[in-house]
Amino acid sequence: MVEAAVERTTGAENVIWDLSVFYNGADDPAMQRDMEQLDTQVDEFAAAYRGRVAQLDAEEMVDAIKALETIYDRSGRIGAFASLLYSTDTANPQYGALIQKVTEYGAMINQKLLFFELEWNEAGDETAQKLLNDPTLADYRHYLEAERRYKPYQLSEIEEQLLVEKSVTGRSAWVRFFTQLTSAIRADYDGQQITLTQALTKLHEADRETRRKANAAITTALRGKAMELTYIFNVLAADKAADDKRREYPGWISSRNLANKAPDAVVEALIQAVTSNYEIVARHYRLKRVLLGLDELTEYDRYAPLPIPEGDTFYTWDEAREIVLKAFDAFSPRFAEIAARFFDESWIHAPVLPNKRGGAFCHPAVPSAHPYVFLNYEGKPHDVMTLAHELGHGIHGYLAAEAQGIFGMYTPLTTAEMASTFGEMLVFNDLMAKEPDAEARLAMLAQKIEDSFATIFRQVSMNRFEDGFHTARRSEGELTTERFNDIWLTTQRAMFGDSVNLSGDYGIWWSYVPHFLSTPGYVYAYAFGELLVLALFNLYRERGASFVPLFVDVLAAGDSNWPEQILAKVGVDLTDLNFWNEGLNTLRALVEQEEQLARQVYPEKF
Ligand SMILES: [Zn+2]
Repeated sequence: MVEAAVERTTGAENVIWDLSVFYNGADDPAMQRDMEQLDTQVDEFAAAYRGRVAQLDAEEMVDAIKALETIYDRSGRIGAFASLLYSTDTANPQYGALIQKVTEYGAMINQKLLFFELEWNEAGDETAQKLLNDPTLADYRHYLEAERRYKPYQLSEIEEQLLVEKSVTGRSAWVRFFTQLTSAIRADYDGQQITLTQALTKLHEADRETRRKANAAITTALRGKAMELTYIFNVLAADKAADDKRREYPGWISSRNLANKAPDAVVEALIQAVTSNYEIVARHYRLKRVLLGLDELTEYDRYAPLPIPEGDTFYTWDEAREIVLKAFDAFSPRFAEIAARFFDESWIHAPVLPNKRGGAFCHPAVPSAHPYVFLNYEGKPHDVMTLAHELGHGIHGYLAAEAQGIFGMYTPLTTAEMASTFGEMLVFNDLMAKEPDAEARLAMLAQKIEDSFATIFRQVSMNRFEDGFHTARRSEGELTTERFNDIWLTTQRAMFGDSVNLSGDYGIWWSYVPHFLSTPGYVYAYAFGELLVLALFNLYRERGASFVPLFVDVLAAGDSNWPEQILAKVGVDLTDLNFWNEGLNTLRALVEQEEQLARQVYPEKF
């Protein structure tokens, strides 16, 4: 079955994106020209406004922001091009050199423009409020207002500049070293030297012995680098503690919450709601143990496929396209219309290629271009949902760029998944409704549940790990590998309860997760986003067609207001603590549905 899947072609092999909206290749001389022009533009901007920002009147402020929009759009085009190109062939040294050059260039531009936001925050509250109330500035009101939330934590311009400059050889350098180190790790699988990604993939195999060996190989490989990995985690935790202290943030998560525009109390309520519903996880894994016919589930059984012939369902690229566009069209013709452009105008890169990055993403790019979708399409039902997911991001970015421009199009992490997960749900329900076979429906449901768990419960348990090690590093000093292991095992065991037996060997498995280092505090945003969508989906079911235009408006609002105010338009109250439990109830209902379906399909196992 595995061999057959490899031989099958999906029709996605030639679905390659067209990046010519930016440049005609890594060596296009237009890029160098643009960089030089942009340099001049930035210097002119600084000459015109430096030292004056806090005194600008409303009209001057509009002019300044419009100039900034042009600058960010132009530099965003260069950045998007370099990173999109690199993602399709990470082994290409020309692409690698380009992305490094563009990263350094971007840091230089940001450094030169830093003064604008810093000086704006230096304006007195009264002056600032007067400007914010001026109707001339209505389009940029939220951008300016939101910027001031950093005011209490801001340092002097020279300090801010130093932090940006030193981060290239500090934080960023350590994160890059971590990426190189973990990419170079080889796990010894039956004498074969395989990458971590390849070894992790084996945890999804049906054969238990394969999973057990892959699991042991990963543990051994990570232990072999424990000294380096522990050191990197310690350095970056201490680096963050130093930054937070200097800026006087009250806790390790405060800066992330501020960036997410999520009040601390809302985040605490989310964590509280999820951790007190870990029982939902245990229920699913107890059922999984029965279905797998095992006495006990261990860490290497977590991703075992259910013994259900789900692996056979296969969708060609054209079928996937039709399924997604139809499901979107039934929800909102506007959704389908935008999504169709991704296919028709080559905004998607779909095939699996040797040195291509793994996974999938949508790059929003800038208003003068359009979003791009990146996939590794293999024709599995899961791939169809991923396509819907990334196109959802694409629609969100498209609508927000059109309505808000560059300062209002990039939503914070917490609401960034609204359209993507929603689009995925539309397609999921469609595929479920179409599937006549109860066994296949059970397989799909189980997969959906595990996907939601990965997004909600696993991320919150990882947030508990982050909370544990940042707090410990701040109070106990440098942490040993064993201390990290302890925190990891405690937080992971709490989630699985008695349903999965996590052995001590699993202790070192925190050490390869890049999010902890590259974006501290990031992980809870996934849970936030998914639970939000589960609740929104309930609203759609209750209200039907009247919900649709409101939701489209919410998406088009992008980052033009505080999330809680944007969401109030569809009747969601993020500050209501019960709201989070509603999302979890939807998930519990899915697990109950799964239990019933399992008893119906396999009465002999119960
Ligand atoms: Zn996403």
